[in-house]
Amino acid sequence: MKIDILTLFPEFFKVLTDFSIIGRALEKGLFSFNTINIRDFSKDKHKRVDDYPFGGGPGMVMKPEPIYDALMSVKSNNSFVIYLSPQGRLYNQEIAKDLANKKHLILICGHYEGIDNRIVENYVDMELSIGDYVLTGGEIPAMVVVDSIVRLLPGVLSSEESYMYESHYNGLLEYPQYTRPREFKGLKVPEVLLSGDHEKISKWRKYQSLKNTYIKRPDLLEKTKLTEEEIAMLEEIKS
Ligand code: SAM
Repeated sequence: MKIDILTLFPEFFKVLTDFSIIGRALEKGLFSFNTINIRDFSKDKHKRVDDYPFGGGPGMVMKPEPIYDALMSVKSNNSFVIYLSPQGRLYNQEIAKDLANKKHLILICGHYEGIDNRIVENYVDMELSIGDYVLTGGEIPAMVVVDSIVRLLPGVLSSEESYMYESHYNGLLEYPQYTRPREFKGLKVPEVLLSGDHEKISKWRKYQSLKNTYIKRPDLLEKTKLTEEEIAMLEEIKS
């Protein structure tokens, strides 16, 4: 997978590419990552990329020409263009899974009052929001999207299981996790996890995953297709 980011602040992305799992995946060549500075495409002698909104009102709007030229410098027939925007589709794991299958993603980060709408309407395949709140720029949302996609790419996590049992992958929240010591300030780890009985552990985890979801995010249960065993477990949890 190739990821290109159109931004006014390429330095932001060091946080993503220089550390941790994503940084290692980049080093190993499991995906390629590039930032394109929209300002480099400004033909204005002061390198301006924004202007006053037509019709008046507060703030500035990012001009269409530098974004268009930056986009055309990387776009091909395989590209999928995303504009990070508080007006977009609400991002979730389903969208992440879907985007992880694309060959080439181009993410446009807005600033100020956003970008000229002619770009959004004519050159963007998907508007994505990371939540119902407004941030100053699209860089943090773009990092959220890239991180969540890259960890789904083959070879990035140590084994596929690392994400398959995680929250949201199958529509449920994950079961609770514990590590050493067995006892911490008088609080013990659930006995079943020390039993070595993998079938029992797996059943316990399924039950806890359902319980976590029922308590913390019951709305997810309405959208998730449960097996008969899970339905029975859920009835027990409810009662
Ligand atoms: N005036 C715009 C509006 O009311 O819809 C908000 C612009 S916001 C201050 C500037 C930029 O931050 C946007 O162009 C977008 O790229 C990014 N942004 C802000 N909040 C976001 C969110 N929740 N999800 C994704 N991107 C966001």
